[in-house]
Amino acid sequence: MEKDFCFRCGTTLIFLQDSNNTLSSECEKCGQGYGKERGKTLIESRKDSSISLPLYSIIFEREKVSNEKIRQVASRYIKYDKRYIKIFMEDIEDELTNPKRKLTGFHYLSGTEEIARDYLSRLLKEIKNLLKLKEN
Ligand SMILES: [Zn+2]
Repeated sequence: MEKDFCFRCGTTLIFLQDSNNTLSSECEKCGQGYGKERGKTLIESRKDSSISLPLYSIIFEREKVSNEKIRQVASRYIKYDKRYIKIFMEDIEDELTNPKRKLTGFHYLSGTEEIARDYLSRLLKEIKNLLKLKEN
């Protein structure tokens, strides 16, 4: 099984037994906390987190999300470990091309489904742009 790593800084994580089926860990380097199901890797346990986390930033947005806000959120994500960014982008792309969830149901978003999908698709583009700039 692949070792779990911190999505923020890439440090290998050591998990401790928590309740029945849950294991928990705190990154030694940056302090980020994680939980996962027993017998699964962190990535397998992530469920909807790739979609849920960025939506958290637009809970109160009732209008089309501004470019400035998208830049802010994107700049946070590109600091994450690149293995996580890759999975994160794949999950979002998959949801956008092949919708499986009601996005407004995640955190009782104030805005519409259309606003949420437009936001995710622009966020994805912005992250790709920033990653390109980073490479050069
Ligand atoms: Zn970390």
